[in-house]
Amino acid sequence: MGRTRETDLSAEYTRDSTGDSKPAAATRHLGRITAAATATYPGLTIESAVRCRRRPANRTCTGFLLVRRQELPAEIQWGCPTCQDRGIIRNWRGTPWDVTRPGRPDEDEIEVVITEEAYRLLEGNPLLDPSSERIVSGGRRHRRGIVLSGEPEDLDLLLEDVMALANDEAHRGRQLLLDRAADRIEAALRRWRR
Ligand SMILES: [Zn+2]
Repeated sequence: MGRTRETDLSAEYTRDSTGDSKPAAATRHLGRITAAATATYPGLTIESAVRCRRRPANRTCTGFLLVRRQELPAEIQWGCPTCQDRGIIRNWRGTPWDVTRPGRPDEDEIEVVITEEAYRLLEGNPLLDPSSERIVSGGRRHRRGIVLSGEPEDLDLLLEDVMALANDEAHRGRQLLLDRAADRIEAALRRWRR
C-alpha cells in the first residue's frame, strides 16, 4: 500500500490554466473525484462511478473509487478498494468541479440505473446543462451499471439533454446507448408521476 497522496486542487488548476490549454489529465481526474464527492452529502462514503486510473503491473486497475467529503476541515478523501491507492484533495472549493449546492432538499429524489457505456458518453460532456452535469457527476456504481439520482425537474432536464445528444450522435452504436439511457430516465419519471 502506498502513501496517501495529497493534492491542493486550486493550485493544480491554476498551474494548469496558464494559457488556453485545458487541465492535465491527472487534474481532470482529481476534478471528477471532486465532482462526485461534492454532488452528494458530506460524511457519506460513496462508491463513485470514477474508475481508478492506476496501472499496477501495466494493467488498468478495475477499481471504482470510494469518495467521501468532509466539511471540517473541508477535504475529500478517496481510495481504490482494488489497488489501495488513496489520497486527500484539499482546496477544491470554487474550482470548476465543486458542484455543491446550498440548501439542497433531500426528498423526492428519483434513481435511475443506466449502463456504464452510456454513462461514459455523458461524463464530462460539455453539452450538458449544469444541473444535468451535477446529476452525472454524482453517479454511483451499481451492479447493473451506474445509478443517477436527482429531483424530478432536474431529471426532466437530463432527459432532454440525453435525447438531444442522441439526436446529434452520428455513430449508430452510441446513439442506441443514449436512446436506451433516455428510455430508462423517462420510465423512472413516469413511475414517479403515476
Ligand atoms: Zn486501483
